[in-house]
Amino acid sequence: MLTVRKLDAFYGEIQTLHGIDLDVREGEVVSVVGANAAGKTTLLNAISGTVERYGRVSFFDQDIGSLPPHAIARRGLVQVPEGRRLFPFMTVRENLELGAFAPHARAHRAESLEKVFDLMPRLRERSGQLAGSMSGGEQQMCAIGRALMAKPRAIMFDEPTLGLAPIMVDVVFKLVRSIKETGITILLVEQNVKHSLAMSDRGYVLENGHIVLSGPAADLLTDPRLKEAYLGG
Ligand code: ATP
Repeated sequence: MLTVRKLDAFYGEIQTLHGIDLDVREGEVVSVVGANAAGKTTLLNAISGTVERYGRVSFFDQDIGSLPPHAIARRGLVQVPEGRRLFPFMTVRENLELGAFAPHARAHRAESLEKVFDLMPRLRERSGQLAGSMSGGEQQMCAIGRALMAKPRAIMFDEPTLGLAPIMVDVVFKLVRSIKETGITILLVEQNVKHSLAMSDRGYVLENGHIVLSGPAADLLTDPRLKEAYLGG
């Protein structure tokens, strides 16, 4: 469903991604792992259209490589950004409703909100609370809920467990799994290599803006090169 070919990305003069080829099939969870500054966030932003990029990106066989970010989201490819990017002085419910901006999502707003509240009852309890006053884990749930409100066909998660307490890390990984079970396809960027590959079908390893390794997640988990570099030997 998502095909990326020869993708380059730039910040001004500096090239950050070099010829990335990546595929995500419908219903899969695919992980992109790599060290700090490898280019993981840039990769998601390049697919979402928020950084300067060149190459081919298609979603359900339609070219999205030159569309602006809102048009890509409207087609059903939605990003949960690193750092959540909520509106801190708006309530949880208001933040969630903002996710349903596209016409097809707005038409199902009430029903989607119920589904989000069923999936994350904590958000129902906190629906009137200012988003900025919630814990990191609760804010991550709210950001995930906002993405679901867009009625996506695929979600790209950028480091959803970053900075969370271990118990919340488990909660967020479980949520991602539940979302997969509803039929939504997932591209997951994580520094938590073991955990993210363990729940993925396939994975890619990104180093200095290049894909250096890819394959079934189970194979990557036992690959000596990956073990050496990311799993403590
Ligand atoms: P992290 O896990 O630390 O977020 P990452 O793998 O997501 O790392 P990116 O954030 O994509 O890496 O950064 C890749 C490279 O691009 C880094 O060298 C970074 O300094 C650079 N970079 C990122 N954002 C910008 C920007 N807005 N302007 C210039 N350079 C940037």
